[in-house]
Amino acid sequence: MSSLKEIKKEILSAKRIGLSFHSSPDGDAIGSTLALLNALRYLKKDAYIITRDVISDNLSFLPLANEVDKSITEPRDNTDLVIILDCGNVERISADLRNYNGKIINIDHHISNENYGFINYVDITAAATCELSYLLIKELGIDFESKTDIEIAIGKAVYTGIVTDTGSFRHSNVTSRTHDIVSNLIAIGLDNSKIHSNLFDNKPFEKVKLMGNVLSNIELALDNKVAVLQIPKGLLEELNLQNADTSDIISVGLGIKGVEVSMLLKEVEDGVKGSLRSKNNVDVRKIAEIYGGGGHIKAAGVMQRGVDIRTARNNLLDSLKKEMNL
Ligand code: 5GP
Ligand code: MN
Repeated sequence: MSSLKEIKKEILSAKRIGLSFHSSPDGDAIGSTLALLNALRYLKKDAYIITRDVISDNLSFLPLANEVDKSITEPRDNTDLVIILDCGNVERISADLRNYNGKIINIDHHISNENYGFINYVDITAAATCELSYLLIKELGIDFESKTDIEIAIGKAVYTGIVTDTGSFRHSNVTSRTHDIVSNLIAIGLDNSKIHSNLFDNKPFEKVKLMGNVLSNIELALDNKVAVLQIPKGLLEELNLQNADTSDIISVGLGIKGVEVSMLLKEVEDGVKGSLRSKNNVDVRKIAEIYGGGGHIKAAGVMQRGVDIRTARNNLLDSLKKEMNL
């Protein structure tokens, strides 16, 4: 793995820097990127976001979130550096890099990372890419000791990614470093409780109706060890929830006694987005990889294109059946 010092050197010698993340960005993708965007602007860099995605409503409170708006989908002319955060595969990058021949820095924590950058900083012990953004920003000279507005702005983004990627500090990816970083952010005045409210107590009423609908149709499969939740496209349109974050619904399935794996299938434009979560030992990344996806052992995702929701469901269940020896 390369060092943060090497990345610092590249950043300091660059003028124009594009930032991007994985498609359908979650709190960690957005948090790690906005943390760095805020820091780079503070350092007077001409930094900007490149993305084909829009931000989900519950992340719009973050500083500079309004810049995640699809207005720039490929690197601008004279870009010296593109930094990709929280994205393991080239295919999943939310930026069009076909005409870009410059330097790419890859900062991530996925075990399946393809090391596609000219510098790759991939730390699979990080609970969230936000931990790595925080460490890089410290390396860049923002010490998180001065209690300044910029530190709080960056801290909000860092905290958001850590909370969302750790299931609010409950997953096994949490380490003492995770808590050290958060402890330091709270010490300089971060309002952690307010961020939880922004993230989780801010749902549109229709979102709760959606949860009700999805939960009333939940099924158990494979000897009641797998919970299956489904979000048909029509339902999102009916409730006008196309930009809403739906990833939290999956955890309800995992909360069921005896369930080992929870699966959420969401019908999208060109196929079915599947999310998988594992409670104990089942490696769901392996299952996702069979269909071209990836992620972590206990949290993985996969996009199955050109199939209906039933087929997508059956594919994942067939593979889980083998993996779980059922
Ligand atoms: P989620 O289910 O929340 O979308 O994703 C869970 C984890 O799997 C995240 O770490 C995410 O980055 C990863 N992941 C989700 N979808 C995909 C995918 O299509 N391909 C790959 N390689 N990883 C994915
Ligand atoms: Mn992440």
